[in-house]
Amino acid sequence: MRQRNKPWAKDKLAEYTQYVISEPEKYKGKWNEAFDKNQPLHIEIGTGKGRFVTGMAKANPDINYIGIELAESVIVTALDRIIEEELPNVKLLNVNANDLRDYFEKGEVNRVYLNFSDPWPKKRHAKRRLTYRSFLEIYEDILVDKGEIHFKTDNQGLFESSLMSFSDYGMLLTFVSLDLHNSDYEGNIMTEYEEKFSSRGSRIFRCEVQYR
Ligand code: SAM
Repeated sequence: MRQRNKPWAKDKLAEYTQYVISEPEKYKGKWNEAFDKNQPLHIEIGTGKGRFVTGMAKANPDINYIGIELAESVIVTALDRIIEEELPNVKLLNVNANDLRDYFEKGEVNRVYLNFSDPWPKKRHAKRRLTYRSFLEIYEDILVDKGEIHFKTDNQGLFESSLMSFSDYGMLLTFVSLDLHNSDYEGNIMTEYEEKFSSRGSRIFRCEVQYR
């Protein structure tokens, strides 16, 4: 995601404490206290400018959502969307996915979304991919039993290596599409990257996998 220098982003994120959780470790094991309603929790990792997570929150008021994003200058746009829509069921964390175990208890998260994760195409950078084995271990540690990951990307290489990673980990593939926008999958909410790449003619790959 293109990051412009926004020196004011940090202050803005700190100002909206009802939407951006500044000390997420305090909610570990009790995320329902951060939301108006006690309901299932889905998280999106690498949420970018928040089009997906806010669209999902609007479409599914009976689910709580957390968008997790490392880059301040990007997540601040997600914050603008939430402020504008006054969404009660979505929060943001400006943290690194490496540290998710510090913020979530085992079984606290019902689903993980990974959308257009950075592909890290070079072999020597494989460990940085958000579908690498070490990340699958982290997600397993915070998800419910038989928890799911829903993943989409335009990048064929990342999709292939991710399918191998899920398979090596012993996960169950429950949905796959090699051309999401020309499939009968319903209710797709596009991300910023998805809109950009599909408008240029890229195919979108999508899968759902489940821990056993
Ligand atoms: N999901 C958005 C979309 O589809 O439009 C953004 C995709 S962008 C290619 C990937 C995003 O993941 C970037 O904004 C990046 O900062 C974020 N990211 C990468 N590694 C991360 C990590 N370890 N923890 C949190 N966010 C991460």
